[in-house]
Amino acid sequence: MPFRLWFQAPRRVLVLFVTITLVPTAALGWLGWWTFKQNRALDKQRDMEGLELLADRVSGALDRALADLQGRLDSPPTSLPEDTILLSAGPEELEATPAGRLVYYPVAPAGVEPPTAGFAAADELELRRKDPAAAISLLRKQVENGDASVRAGALLRLGRNEKKLGRHAEALAAYSELERLGQVRVEGLPAEMAAREARCRLYEQAGRVKELAAEAAVLHAGLRAGRWRIARATWQFHVGEAARWMSPPVPAPADADQLALAAAAEWVYQRWQADRNSEGRRFLTLEGRPVMVVWRATAARLHAAAAGPRAVNAALNPVVRDPGVSIALSDAAGLPVLGRPATHPRVHVVRVAAESGLPWTLHVVRTDPASPSAQSRFLVAGGAVLALLLVGGGYFVFRAMIREMAVAQLQSDFVSAVSHEFRSPLTSIRQLSHLLASGRVPDDDQRGRVYGALVRESERLHTLVESLLDFGRMEAGSLRYRLEPLDAVPLVTEVIEAFRLNPAALGYDIRLRVEPGVPRVAADREALGRALWNLLDNAVKYSPGNKDIVVEVAGQDSGVAIRVRDRGTGIPGSQHGEIFKKFVRGNPASAVKGTGIGLAMVEHIVRGHRGRILLESEPGKGSTFTIWLPTERRP
Ligand code: ADP
Repeated sequence: MPFRLWFQAPRRVLVLFVTITLVPTAALGWLGWWTFKQNRALDKQRDMEGLELLADRVSGALDRALADLQGRLDSPPTSLPEDTILLSAGPEELEATPAGRLVYYPVAPAGVEPPTAGFAAADELELRRKDPAAAISLLRKQVENGDASVRAGALLRLGRNEKKLGRHAEALAAYSELERLGQVRVEGLPAEMAAREARCRLYEQAGRVKELAAEAAVLHAGLRAGRWRIARATWQFHVGEAARWMSPPVPAPADADQLALAAAAEWVYQRWQADRNSEGRRFLTLEGRPVMVVWRATAARLHAAAAGPRAVNAALNPVVRDPGVSIALSDAAGLPVLGRPATHPRVHVVRVAAESGLPWTLHVVRTDPASPSAQSRFLVAGGAVLALLLVGGGYFVFRAMIREMAVAQLQSDFVSAVSHEFRSPLTSIRQLSHLLASGRVPDDDQRGRVYGALVRESERLHTLVESLLDFGRMEAGSLRYRLEPLDAVPLVTEVIEAFRLNPAALGYDIRLRVEPGVPRVAADREALGRALWNLLDNAVKYSPGNKDIVVEVAGQDSGVAIRVRDRGTGIPGSQHGEIFKKFVRGNPASAVKGTGIGLAMVEHIVRGHRGRILLESEPGKGSTFTIWLPTERRP
């Protein structure tokens, strides 16, 4: 279909098509998009309202949790939740209730250390004179001392000196006795812990690997369980040493929740050191975990309560159930107090201190990707289906329209071609009959020639009318072929002989080549003859220069091939499929008379015989049309 046709006569149809389909499609698309956007905004609004509600509940829950913790400062320390502690500290002492919840303490208790002066002589013998044996005899007396702290100092030294002499059994005996002194302080550590530590060092030095691992495991477990009251640095150092001594795998020093609670106790104690008269409440993120702390302090005394991550989560979990929502607290300067405000939240609700009743700004954010509501999803799906239908439908209508336009164009070409075909024989007949009627042809001979011409022209008209009628029947589907067993060679010979007499064939050399033993076919004699005639007629029409035409009849692929070969204008490859369609005329044909129905009829006839029509052609070199028919099958 040439492009220019789109914009020729039926331009109005195109405009109508665009108006009827494309404009509403665009309008519908825009409307769909607009509604979708509205829906998205509504979804967001709904999310926002949800978060607002949540923010209220979160600030309420946080406030209640802090108030609960504050209440514990005044009530007896019974039935505390599992990760909550109460701290009570004076200038000299610190009490954490219940015991064993802190893996380390804000400060180690001062304890009563034995006066080092009492061990001066033994230390002199051991360290300066390098005489452990003499030191041992001195220390043995002090081991009997009534003061437990003196006994502890003596036992630790005794063990050390025995170890130096290589008497490991005696050293271990001294450490066992030291261990029994429990929490008595010696060299800054509880006696039991000091004994276990000393034992580890002895095993390490002696290469007693198994005993070392076992002892280190007990030491490590004690440190994790908060068995000894020591400060953070001491705890960290010894937990590291114990881990080094243990056979792998070494368990984590303590779980993060425990560390966070110990850090909370340390935080509130240090705050009291810095500001003795204060009270307050805080959410904090320590060791990466959320904790709450409340305190009331005077110069003389600190009362504090701290609750670890489990308590914070217990307060928040019933409120913040949605995993796509996270909360954070920040102080007046915008620094994070609890969690971190998300950097790219989808929906973000902020409650400043004045609104939330908390001393911080509360951020409630939704970070999970938006999940469109069922309505939005339905809208998108519906829009997509509608667009698909419109585009698909529009495409098919457009294609059909273009085809119809092309056929209309071809039909109008056909009508003018047919009128042309009729005009020349009619003109000849009219002129010749006028000539006769006027009596201007007196000579019998001349009259005979005029009559001959009249017969030829009326024959031409007859053939034309016949072929148009055939075409009409073919189009109406009423053309039926009567197939009968037929020898193709005599039929082809007969048609060629008749064609040679045709005035159009004058001057053409039409040769027939027949292969011997050509099988019979089932064919309608008249229709097949007409098809061959059409091919011969075309071969003559489109070979103005070279007048050699060859017709071959041969057996091929269990059938018979009838080939008509000319050396005429040829047909470009792009037209090989097109020229068999009705009314289609090839490009070089414009100068030659024709109606564009010849090949369509040939194809119709060949198909009616269950055969094929084949074309080989090259512009300038000529064309070969082959009618292939299957061999007759006897029932
Ligand atoms: P018509 O000859 O009336 O135009 P046909 O259906 O017989 O219609 O042929 C269709 C077109 O095929 C012709 O217009 C011509 O361009 C091309 N054609 C057919 N036969 C030949 C041939 N032997 N050589 C070159 N072109 C041919």
